[in-house]
Amino acid sequence: MSAPVVPDLHSVRNEFRNELLASGLLIDAGKPGLYGRSGLFDDIVDSLDGALTGIMAPLDAERMRFAPVYPKTEFELTDYIVSFPNLTGSINGFTGTDRDHASLITARANGEDWNDWLSPAETMLVPAVCHPLYERLSGSLPVGGRVFDLAGYCFRHEPSSDPMRLQAFRMHEFVYVGEEETAREFRDTWIVRLLVLLQELGLDARTVPANDPFFGRAGRMLARNQLADDLKLELVVPIYGDLDDGTAVGSGNCHGDHFGQSFGILAGDGSVAHGACVAYGMERVTLALLRTHGFEPASWPSDVRKRLGWAA
Ligand code: 5GP
Ligand code: ZN
Repeated sequence: MSAPVVPDLHSVRNEFRNELLASGLLIDAGKPGLYGRSGLFDDIVDSLDGALTGIMAPLDAERMRFAPVYPKTEFELTDYIVSFPNLTGSINGFTGTDRDHASLITARANGEDWNDWLSPAETMLVPAVCHPLYERLSGSLPVGGRVFDLAGYCFRHEPSSDPMRLQAFRMHEFVYVGEEETAREFRDTWIVRLLVLLQELGLDARTVPANDPFFGRAGRMLARNQLADDLKLELVVPIYGDLDDGTAVGSGNCHGDHFGQSFGILAGDGSVAHGACVAYGMERVTLALLRTHGFEPASWPSDVRKRLGWAA
């Protein structure tokens, strides 16, 4: 008798990815972690986002949308390059002369790489949708602070065959900037509302202290501080059974006065502003729903369909 085949994480992830591609829900866009999406996939995203916006409505957040590209000067102030250099993406452009262009074309015709003719455009890809906000807030905030509703594409350079890990994905964030005490209260209140929504959608979600993959030796200390100071919580859903600890589909972050200091933002009481955000990954929650309830939304449980605003 042959030994039973024990599934391993790598093959289970690949299998999920292949099923998503075969069903047409995801479309291979040529690099690991880059996908197109079918209309059905984005219908789920839209309904999910409607449900999320519904629970966040009491916040009366100011809705803003930014491009997924922002100035390097602002990226610099976030210190992202210190914590996550490996995830960073920067934009290059061509600013050469006619002669440079001719050399580029010759190199290209010879099958050579033409990267050398491009130079940094002083713009970066946005790694978290709140980054382009902070420069806009420099100065004094009103007492009680401000709340923002931000959504859009994020880029993180981490090619992977796991369909839960994309290089370009959409994030929807609710961000508070203002007084210290209110910032933590904001995180603690709204992460729970988000958790409840995920549970109402039939996901086996739970809250865990986050352990971000800060880079290198210095990063290990940042990771310890994050845990010790309870700065970040993640909403985790099992996707691959007990082969891993689940995947974070949402998070709640206390930034302390980091962005307030860097961008010169003052709270209404004159102190350096503190910030917090609660975010969810639009593709990740959609994939968690597909993994949990199957690839046919028409046959999802009726209470889940109702919660998404669909006919039960
Ligand atoms: P965070 O800033 O906490 O790392 O990311 C916020 C949320 O964005 C995460 O909870 C997750 O839902 C989503 N997210 C982060 N990284 C990825 C990724 O590689 N792929 C996808 N699809 N979503 C991600
Ligand atoms: Zn944020």
